[in-house]
Amino acid sequence: MPNYFEGAIKKLTESSRFSNAPEFFIIQLSAPQRMISVSFPVLMDNGRYQTFKGYRVQYNNLLGPYKGGLRYHPRVDLDEVKALSFWMMIKNAIANVPFGGGKGGIEVDPRELSEGELERLTRAFAGELFYNVGPEIDVPAPDVNTNSQIMEYFADEYKTRIMKNKLGIKDYSEKQLRAVVTGKPLDKGGSEGRGEATGLGGFYILEQTLKALKFKKDIKIAIQGFGNVGSYFAKFCFDSGYKVVAITDHTGGVFCKEGLDISKMFKLKEEQKLDIAQMDLREYQEVKNGQLFELEVDVLVPAALEGVITKEVAEKIKAKIVLEMANGPTLPEADKILPRKKITVIPDVLANCGGVIVSYFEWYQNMNSERWDLETVRKKLREKMISAFLSVWEIKQENKISLRDAGYVLATNRLFERYEQTKTAKKVKSYLETDSFKTIVSR
Ligand code: NAD
Repeated sequence: MPNYFEGAIKKLTESSRFSNAPEFFIIQLSAPQRMISVSFPVLMDNGRYQTFKGYRVQYNNLLGPYKGGLRYHPRVDLDEVKALSFWMMIKNAIANVPFGGGKGGIEVDPRELSEGELERLTRAFAGELFYNVGPEIDVPAPDVNTNSQIMEYFADEYKTRIMKNKLGIKDYSEKQLRAVVTGKPLDKGGSEGRGEATGLGGFYILEQTLKALKFKKDIKIAIQGFGNVGSYFAKFCFDSGYKVVAITDHTGGVFCKEGLDISKMFKLKEEQKLDIAQMDLREYQEVKNGQLFELEVDVLVPAALEGVITKEVAEKIKAKIVLEMANGPTLPEADKILPRKKITVIPDVLANCGGVIVSYFEWYQNMNSERWDLETVRKKLREKMISAFLSVWEIKQENKISLRDAGYVLATNRLFERYEQTKTAKKVKSYLETDSFKTIVSR
C-alpha cells in the first residue's frame, strides 16, 4: 500500500522553492494539527453490538473551519485520511474558499449494512466527534460511499445533542446548526447543485484546459468510476456534445467508439440504482478497468479511488490529458512519467474542487439564512472554477512547472499570506492591550 501522505509532503517540499513561503512554514504545513481516532459500538440488526473504527484528521485551519468529506470504506485508515485531509487544505486554498483542510472516515463496507445500521453507525460516529465538529470548527461532507442521507443523520444527531445539552454555542439558530455538515438533502438545508457540483466543476476545468491547449471539441473521453463524480462529469460532457467512449465502475465497463449514450446510463444509475454490470448495455463492447487506461482517447478521467495510475499504467496511457477527478489517482512515480510523455495532468486539487466550492455555498446559505437557485449556484461555481484554473495556469506558465506544482504554489502562497495577516493581527491586538497604549488612549 503506497504511503500517500509521504508522497504529498514530498510534493509540497519540492514545489515550495517556487513559493513565497519560508522553510519553517513548509515544515509547519507538513504535519496535521490534530488527528482523532475513535472506536465505538453499534447495535446491529441481529441484536449484537459490533465495534467500528473511525477517524477525523483536522489538518490545518489557517483559512477557516476544517473542511472535508467522510469516507465509508473497508480500506480507510489513518494514513489515508491524513493524506486526504492534507489535499483538502491545498484544494480549499486553490478554490479560494474560507475553509481549512480536514477529512474523516469509518473502516466499514456500507454495502453490508442495512439502512438502520447505517443510520446508527453514522449517529454513533457523530456522537464521538460531537465536541470536535461545528459550523465554525469542522464541517464534514460526503465522500466515497457517503451521501446526503448520511449527512442528514450526522447533522440531526449533532443538532439534537447540542439542543439536549443546552449548548447554545454562540446562539446558533437551528438552521445554522445544520451547517455542521454540507451535502445535506435539499429539504434539510442542502444547496441546489451540490450533488452535481464536483462533476460540473470538473467539466468547467476540462473546457478551460481544452481552450488553453487549443484542442478542438471533437475529442474522445474515457472515465473510470460512475459514482457521484464520474456520472455527473460524464453527463455534463455528453449534454455539451462531447464523446464519452468508455466508462468503468467496480462491477464492469463499456466501450463504444462512436460514443456511449450517457443519458441512458445516467438514468439507470439514478432511477434504478444500477451498477454498470447490471445495466442492459449489450450494444456496447465490454472494457475492463485495466484496459481503460490504455485506450486511444484524448482525455482520461480517473474518478474512482486513489493510486490507480501506477508507474506501469502510466507507461501505457495514450491519452493527451489526464483529468484527476478522484483524489490522489496518480502515484508519485507515475507523476514523473506522464510529463515525459507530454501528457498534461490536471491535478485533483484543481479538477475536483467544485464539490467543496458548492459546499461553501451551502454553508454560507445556512449561516446567512439565504437560499440560492440552481442557476445562481452554477454561475457562481463557474466563476470560481475559472478563476482557480487561470490562477494555477498563470503560475505554471511563469515558472514552467507542472499544474500540480503550480497548484501547490498557489495554495502555499495563500496560506502563508493568511499566516502573516494573522501574525500581524495578533501583534496589533497585543499592542492594543498594553499599558502604554491604554495610557495614550486615556490622555
Ligand atoms: P462514489 O462512491 O459515489 O463512486 C465511486 C465510483 O468508483 C463508483 O462508481 C464505484 O463503482 C467506482 N469504483 C470503486 N472501485 C473501483 C475500481 N476498483 N475500479 C473501477 N471503479 C471503481 O464516490 P464519489 O463521490 O464519486 O468519489 C469518487 C472520487 O472522487 C473519490 O476519490 C473521492 O474522494 C473524489 N471526490 C469526490 C467528491 C464528491 O463531492 N463526491 C469531491 C471531490 C473528490
